[in-house]
Amino acid sequence: MGLHIDISAITANWNALAAKAPGARVAAVVKADAYGLGAARVVPALYQAGARDFFVALASEGRAIRPLLPADATINVLSGHMEGEDLTGLVPVLNSPAQYFRDRAMRPGQPFAIQLDTGMNRLGMEAAEWAAVRAEVLAEGPAFIMSHLACADEPDHPANAAQLAAFRKMTERCNVPRSLAATGGILLGPDYHFEMVRAGIGMYGGLPFADARPAVDLSLRVIQTRDVKAGEMVGYGATWHAERDTRIATVDAGYADGILRALSSSGAKMFAGGVGYPIVGRVSMDLITVDVTELDVVPDRMHLICDQQPIDRLADLAGTIGYEILTALRQRYQRTYR
Ligand SMILES: *Cc1c(COP(=O)(O)O)cnc(C)c1O
Repeated sequence: MGLHIDISAITANWNALAAKAPGARVAAVVKADAYGLGAARVVPALYQAGARDFFVALASEGRAIRPLLPADATINVLSGHMEGEDLTGLVPVLNSPAQYFRDRAMRPGQPFAIQLDTGMNRLGMEAAEWAAVRAEVLAEGPAFIMSHLACADEPDHPANAAQLAAFRKMTERCNVPRSLAATGGILLGPDYHFEMVRAGIGMYGGLPFADARPAVDLSLRVIQTRDVKAGEMVGYGATWHAERDTRIATVDAGYADGILRALSSSGAKMFAGGVGYPIVGRVSMDLITVDVTELDVVPDRMHLICDQQPIDRLADLAGTIGYEILTALRQRYQRTYR
């Protein structure tokens, strides 16, 4: 099984998103091992393309990529300053007064950023907390102030304008660089861009960036092919029975490889020569069964993620989002980069 990752598509998508936010710094969000695609390869390529600001979720992720980046690149840690964490060479995005005071006590004079909550109620200081520490924080000189949109992938959602207004109000006269938009916010237009935007899923070829170049192709190897008679079952739970004499190919990955079990009997296909053949029966831990009756010659490999079945199509079929399809692709694959 082979996971092919197109680094040039990722950098092209970063450039395409940058073109939509002229004048803003375009940070690259590389948390969760660059959305499962391999930070060790993705991060240096994005630096080469011009990215200088990076975001990770955890300090440990930041420490892993710090040696890959020259000193003029900044690595921001979204979980902020957790107790006992080594933040050498990293910039914590401080989410609460408690994190702020801890950080100033442990890292006086070191760079930090601030996250404000503008309505998502997940991370960041609330208005009253911010009001209480704002003057002191601003005197310390945060690198930037950010917030995060809950509904940016739905352009007409009223929460977007409400969060934008709250962010403007909370950052009035701060005179510090601001950042509100992730991929969805970049596409909402210039009101949302401020001085820095944070590109994530769109770089990796996912919605809501509909014009993104796909960055992933996943092919699985055919281990065995068999002919089953009409009426015979295939797979765990006997959930699928052949309605006609059927040729079944068994390929070499399953839900342990992040191919969600919800794709069983979902309409998902495996592709050969640009044509799709239905996945039948349950997705097992290490195996998937495919109805290849219509194929004259069963190939060595079939594709699960490809131009004909991109990550967001699979996400629809599995009842999830492209983000989860990507980050579920774990380590068992042989990866190739081009
Ligand atoms: C993950 C994340 C991003 C990137 O979001 P995308 O939708 O993938 O572009 C940006 N900002 C924050 C705070 C995030 O958690």
